[in-house]
Amino acid sequence: MQGGPSDPPEFDHPTEKCGVVGASLADRDAALPTYYALYALQHRGQESAGIVSHDGFQQHQHVGMGLVGDAFDEDDIDALHGPAAIGHVRYPTAGSVDESCAQPFSVSFKGGALGLSHNGNLVNADELRDELAGSGHAFTSDGDTEVIAHDLARNLLDADIVDAVEATMGRIHGSYSLTIMHDDTVLGVRDPRGNRPLVIGKLDDGYIIASESAAIDTVGGEVVRDVRPGELVVLHEDGGGFDSHQLVDVDNTAHCFFEYVYFARPDSVIDEELVYEVRRELGRQLWQEAGVDSDVVMPVPDSGRAFASGYAEQAQQEGESVDFAEGLMKNRYVGRTFIMPTQEARERAVRLKLNPIKSTVEGKSVTIIDDSIVRGTTSSQLVDLVREAGAEEVHVRIGAPPIQAPCYFGIDMATRDELIAADRTADDIAAEVGADSLSYLSLDAVTAAIGKSRADLCAGCVTGEYPYEVDGEATDRPVQRPDVDSVADD
Ligand code: AMP
Repeated sequence: MQGGPSDPPEFDHPTEKCGVVGASLADRDAALPTYYALYALQHRGQESAGIVSHDGFQQHQHVGMGLVGDAFDEDDIDALHGPAAIGHVRYPTAGSVDESCAQPFSVSFKGGALGLSHNGNLVNADELRDELAGSGHAFTSDGDTEVIAHDLARNLLDADIVDAVEATMGRIHGSYSLTIMHDDTVLGVRDPRGNRPLVIGKLDDGYIIASESAAIDTVGGEVVRDVRPGELVVLHEDGGGFDSHQLVDVDNTAHCFFEYVYFARPDSVIDEELVYEVRRELGRQLWQEAGVDSDVVMPVPDSGRAFASGYAEQAQQEGESVDFAEGLMKNRYVGRTFIMPTQEARERAVRLKLNPIKSTVEGKSVTIIDDSIVRGTTSSQLVDLVREAGAEEVHVRIGAPPIQAPCYFGIDMATRDELIAADRTADDIAAEVGADSLSYLSLDAVTAAIGKSRADLCAGCVTGEYPYEVDGEATDRPVQRPDVDSVADD
């Protein structure tokens, strides 16, 4: 990781987490469906994309920088032979931004060929890297994925893949959803708290594992079920099925609530909840908790859409006469790759990205709905834009609680001092962004909308208390951090 936990990595532009895929098919190359699945997961990472395949004899690899469509051409896909493949889209949350960190990570060693794709972030990677480097492992990147790969490679020298994964799971601590390829065997692993999503799908001629169910839909597959927290899934090499190994059990999960709020695609089902429906329910609850009279309710596209429709629906159901309208148009060609190194550039980016529809807002009292506020850049720019377009009142309603602390597990939430809610009340923030009123949704409402108990969710970015033990931070549950020294060389 870059920087220690008390000095979280700083990013110049908004970051997303990664997306992972793994596929094992009966008798066709797995690279093409893996590529399509990566396309479906593009929202989870735009920095680099890669696929590693295995044809029964050797590994083939292609990684490239940028979007999936830029990282591969037809020849690259054709050269990725073999019915087993894993893939990755990356936005760096740990490690530097260059090709050496692009994934899948792959290595050939005495115990075979290993490929690894990781979504999440370990909190003890530095400790493990030091320990492994001390026993002769040479590292080519500063990312935490290589640490997992080296640990697994070492364990594979004298254990089978299931025991080796179990031993590695006993040593790595933090958030991880992994797809692994050991020779031509494809595996999926989810950390014991299930922080990041991972789901199994069935194709006509094989099985696929992916970060989100939307990727399985995209390749014409059928969702079988989520990989369970602490479970290792081993796909059969003939594409005929998979074995399950429940390797670690803990009392409570720590599913990231922000996957539902912002990160995941609305058409994905995560841990049995359709993200779109959760967002609509968050919108309904937002009206119930913090509804405000106005002439028109409008979403911040695209992130606020489902919230705004739920909010407006609930308001109308309760007899409120309010219009639900599009009042902001999005320029789709300002990609997420738009470089925003400075605050000024970020502000300009909002104006490049969104433009008000005058007739929706002119002379009206307007409520703008978005999923979250991080630095406050979007909200303050939008309030200005909507006022300039003639709105008389501008209210802001947010479908998540205030983000007050960094995320150490794979989402860039900026540093504490950049977070507008870190040391301000909602009223302070309303004044700062120039809104007539501003309200957030409570964590209780989020918990209810997701339909899981509070004890089974990670809300570290809201509470500042984390489900994994991070140096210098509080935890909200008993955490058993692996003792690296005591299990070394098992
Ligand atoms: P900000 O402008 O910094 O307050 O960021 C809030 C806006 O960015 C909202 O419209 C969110 O939909 C979106 N957003 C929330 N979290 C993130 C994140 N981690 N990375 C990128 N965008 C985000």
